[in-house]
Amino acid sequence: MNKRKFLKFSFQFFFVLLFKFFSTTRAFGDFLYKNNTIVFTHPIFLKKIFSEDHPEKPERVKHVLQELKKRKMDHLVKKINLSQEVDFWINQIHSKKHMESLKKKFSLAERLSSTAVRGCIEAVDQIMSKQILNAFCLSRPPGHHALNTGKDEGFCFYNHVAIAAKYIQQKYNKKKILIIDWDYHHGNSTEFFFYSDPDVFCFSTHNLEAYPGTGFPERTGSGKGKGFNLNIHLPCNTNDQDILRIYKDVLVKKADSFKPDFILISAGFDSREEDLLGCFKITDSGFEKLTEVVMNIANIHCEGRILSILEGGYNVEGNSSATTSHIKILNNFNK
Ligand SMILES: [Zn+2]
Repeated sequence: MNKRKFLKFSFQFFFVLLFKFFSTTRAFGDFLYKNNTIVFTHPIFLKKIFSEDHPEKPERVKHVLQELKKRKMDHLVKKINLSQEVDFWINQIHSKKHMESLKKKFSLAERLSSTAVRGCIEAVDQIMSKQILNAFCLSRPPGHHALNTGKDEGFCFYNHVAIAAKYIQQKYNKKKILIIDWDYHHGNSTEFFFYSDPDVFCFSTHNLEAYPGTGFPERTGSGKGKGFNLNIHLPCNTNDQDILRIYKDVLVKKADSFKPDFILISAGFDSREEDLLGCFKITDSGFEKLTEVVMNIANIHCEGRILSILEGGYNVEGNSSATTSHIKILNNFNK
């Protein structure tokens, strides 16, 4: 190799090294960092688990993927790694008896739900190692009604958000978790598992008249957890202004005194207008603004750390456009 060729080779090698360094090191490479968020998903979520005409269907995820592609956001999508063992973490919330019953009687649904848990865990790992700022878990079925009954409750098998909260606390010693649930339905399972826990603040807006008939405002927590569970009933026809006022006036103040280390969103889009199961009138723009409110809280208290997980949303077109709008803000806000 002559001197000229050697110099050219050295320069190329140096620039490749430099690029690799900046593109993987967030602390030094913010200006080269393209994306705040990653959308974790897996082809298994395209499998049907309920009957033919059931609203909880594969198209819920399929249409989001199509919408992401249409809006040129499909580069954010990452396939969930299935190799991670998650039974230990599921067992922090669900009983062994429940897990065994699901594996025996609802094996496909159990595989979908445990894949969603894997997605949450992978997302938390990437957020904590600062590879990304926040993440969205594009998974199904939902999880926030799942109890330990050995079967599904309200289309839910494992409570993904609750398991993620335990994982963050135990693996990363980030104790104070704020769970925000804007699904049309009350997240009764999330409330149940953290009702006496002062380290997990559960904030839920929902319609009390809908399934599962829980979520009364007087249910504020028990023992040391008193004051760390907040239920807000919203009536039919609740619109963007109505829900935004609550998030800006109530949630922001509660979060300022709680000071979360990590925020989890139970992102249900059955609270969107024209949902098959809901009667709210929240638009895609409303969900964008809700996302901004939550991101502001996260920026103030926990360096932007948010994991958002798909819950309900049964109008497949509405669910796909609201979900994509939510992801757009997660990725672009404050850049
Ligand atoms: Zn719901």
